[in-house]
Amino acid sequence: MNDLKEEIKSRLSVEDVVGQYIELKRAGRNLKGRSPWGVDKTPSFMVSPEKGIWHDFSANKGGDIFTFIMEVEGINFKEALEKLATRAGVDISKYQGGDPAVTKKKARAREALNLASKYYQACLVRNQSVCEYVFYKRNLNRKTVAEFKIGYAPASGKALIEVLQKRGYNLNELEVAGLLNRFKTDLFRDRMMVPFIDTSGNVIGFTARILKQGEPKYLNTPETLLFNKSRFVFGLYQAKETIRREGYVVIVEGNMDVISSHQAGVKSAVATSGTAMTEQHLKILSNLTSDIRLAYDGDAAGIKATERAIMLAGDLGIDLTVISDYHGAKDPDELIQKDPKLWQDAVSHNVPAVDWLLQKYEENLDLSSAPGKRKYSDVALKLLDYVKDEVERASYEAKVAKILNIDVATLREKGERLNKKLEQTPKRFLKKPKTQAKNDKIEKLENSLLALKVYGGITKTKIPLDVPDDDTKLAELELVFNSEHELLDSEDYEREAKELLKLYQQEIAKQKIIELNTKLSNLEEDSEEYLNTLNEINELQKTQK
Ligand code: ATP
Ligand code: MN
Repeated sequence: MNDLKEEIKSRLSVEDVVGQYIELKRAGRNLKGRSPWGVDKTPSFMVSPEKGIWHDFSANKGGDIFTFIMEVEGINFKEALEKLATRAGVDISKYQGGDPAVTKKKARAREALNLASKYYQACLVRNQSVCEYVFYKRNLNRKTVAEFKIGYAPASGKALIEVLQKRGYNLNELEVAGLLNRFKTDLFRDRMMVPFIDTSGNVIGFTARILKQGEPKYLNTPETLLFNKSRFVFGLYQAKETIRREGYVVIVEGNMDVISSHQAGVKSAVATSGTAMTEQHLKILSNLTSDIRLAYDGDAAGIKATERAIMLAGDLGIDLTVISDYHGAKDPDELIQKDPKLWQDAVSHNVPAVDWLLQKYEENLDLSSAPGKRKYSDVALKLLDYVKDEVERASYEAKVAKILNIDVATLREKGERLNKKLEQTPKRFLKKPKTQAKNDKIEKLENSLLALKVYGGITKTKIPLDVPDDDTKLAELELVFNSEHELLDSEDYEREAKELLKLYQQEIAKQKIIELNTKLSNLEEDSEEYLNTLNEINELQKTQK
């Protein structure tokens, strides 16, 4: 694995890999650019061509070309390796580590699925009535059909198996690829085939639509070695360039909505499986942009899904908005069939998701009655709990209070009572502690301290952090050192280290206090452990002065 990494590194320069995503300008021995995570006001993204590494001072992350691709594409290490190997023209199979049997299985499944997709595409053009469905009923053009590799699975029940067996694949391999049903015959029959394409452009599964009325409307590839529903974002392969360029992503409910949207010129549309969005989906997308626009239906399922997304987004610092004006159409596809222009306009008329939800609650409840007001305040307060920014939350509280015709103090009082009740409920019903934000601060301090320890020759101040032994991390620390401490004289390094260490210890204590407080809320009052924990918190609080 290390040989493979080195081979790829020797062929690809960090400035070329990064330069595909960010405009870089020379700054002395390094290159500088803007953070792809969009959090900097001045260029704070540094690349060191000599060392083959990068560091983003605003987002506080860094590493080599592999970590860069992982972060920016939202893919895992293996996927990044494969991607860069292809780009470098390195034959990965010669180096393949891990379990060779599994790697082989996956490779065979990937080949089988790509062949299946080609076969389905060929079947489409041969079948008059299916062409009618795809080109006239669904109104897709040739370019779209080619881009999304749309095809047709024949009805016979053995058609695909026979083709692939002739090509040397056995039933077991086709099973691993997710192409068989439990009778070991073709899973997909007489359906329009839309492949799931991963971010490297490989077919990893299919969603198959019935052509007439019938159940199920869609049949999907089961979870396989290659296809993982809770990570897969439909359309991302086709959309990611546009998402990066235009700075936003539109999440729609249906895969066909994605395809129609692309055809209508809105190429930043993707879908998660129906409305079942997971944290992983959101993380993958938030690596590309923090402007995420939901285009779910306005029905009960759409409301539920939007609430869920807000909860997931809370910790990720994402601006979730909702696109809702469909001019009476049921979904984006239907709107586009009316007029593509309407959809193009709709995606830029997005409202903050919280506002949209409050509006929905208002529409669905009778706010002239006291019980209606109670219900409205219940759901509104629950929602506002996920709004992290104090100013933003205060503004929503004012809005909700006004709608209820009460004062903000009364609303807050109820909020506090509900939160207390929440603390008394068993642990498993509690939200995860909000610890994400602190980690960034601590990590940043750790990097600065380590940079001083390794490159500043600190002797007097004892820095209780282990020096990493990985070369990339060390090179990154050198970059941190050169940028953060470049203006200091060497005598000042000790003083700097001392100050940073103090801040660091305070942060650690602060973190510990948060953790202990969470623990406290789950302990029986007056129990021995409760009192001990309380003492511990008090001790730690002394360090916070
Ligand atoms: P169409 O326009 O082809 O009728 P749609 O996208 O409008 O499809 P919906 O019924 O709104 O279909 O469903 C939205 C999404 O939910 C679909 O794209 C599909 O991914 C998923 N879905 C719907 N029905 C099923 C099903 N029976 N099995 C699995 N997934 C389904
Ligand atoms: Mn539809």
